[in-house]
Amino acid sequence: MPPLTSWLVLPILVLLAAPATTPPARASPVASSFDGQREFDYFKLALQWPGTYCKRTRSCCPTNGCCRGSNSPAVFTIHGLWPDYNDGSWPSCCSGSSFDPKEISTLTNALEQYWPSLSCSKPSLCHGGKGTFWAHEWEKHGTCSYPVFRNEYDYFLTVLNVYFKYNITSVLNDAGYVPSNTEKYPLGGIISAIENAFHASPQIVCSKDSIEELYLCFYKNFQPRDCALGSDIKIDMVTSKKSCPKYVSLPESVSVGYNGLQSRVSDDVAL
Ligand code: AMP
Repeated sequence: MPPLTSWLVLPILVLLAAPATTPPARASPVASSFDGQREFDYFKLALQWPGTYCKRTRSCCPTNGCCRGSNSPAVFTIHGLWPDYNDGSWPSCCSGSSFDPKEISTLTNALEQYWPSLSCSKPSLCHGGKGTFWAHEWEKHGTCSYPVFRNEYDYFLTVLNVYFKYNITSVLNDAGYVPSNTEKYPLGGIISAIENAFHASPQIVCSKDSIEELYLCFYKNFQPRDCALGSDIKIDMVTSKKSCPKYVSLPESVSVGYNGLQSRVSDDVAL
């Protein structure tokens, strides 16, 4: 991957105990080649709005970020950084590299805060079985980011840094789009606020009229780009309109406490 260049300025570095530019010596490479897979075209940073996502919480467990009561996340959190193709498809599970939590142990505190699991369900892994949310994201998407990232540590650290640099929650707050259980906001206004801040068009996914996911797209050097490139500059707006109504909400986080919602027989509703 390109070195962590100076534009990656970061509150996160303050949080980190490890040197920012030196992956732990034990970091294992993704692959020496791309296992025959066509190289991806661009990155999509997928963010989640916990106020919407956590409404589905049906069970609590220590690893479910929705269950931290008043400490549950109230900002957009990270879903993943996905290498995608311009035609709308994407590679997945690109190498035999399995997730090793030890490689990112110095990032764990930050990841728990900004890249939390919002479920007790364990997502599937590329090589069978189930694992943590981070393992799923690394194996399914991270391993396909060759040659930009060649190891887990670089991938997770850079995702955190990009997340801080392009702070969607504060862009929306500054434009007056604050969490609310009563207000509805114009979808076009939200998209414009992001376009004005980052000069690139996002893509938004709703659950009914609530924003659930928001994608920011980047060239391989992490310069922002429109999520859909094409002759029709408004195509991202069109894509977002397919999923969202004209007026959308950003629900406040529900304060589910681990003690108030002990694990039930069934796990979270399928996502
Ligand atoms: P992806 O394959 O990257 O689209 O991720 C989808 C998988 O991750 C599905 O199994 C989802 O249920 C799960 N998932 C999505 N978001 C979260 C989250 N915040 N916490 C835990 N699992 C999640």
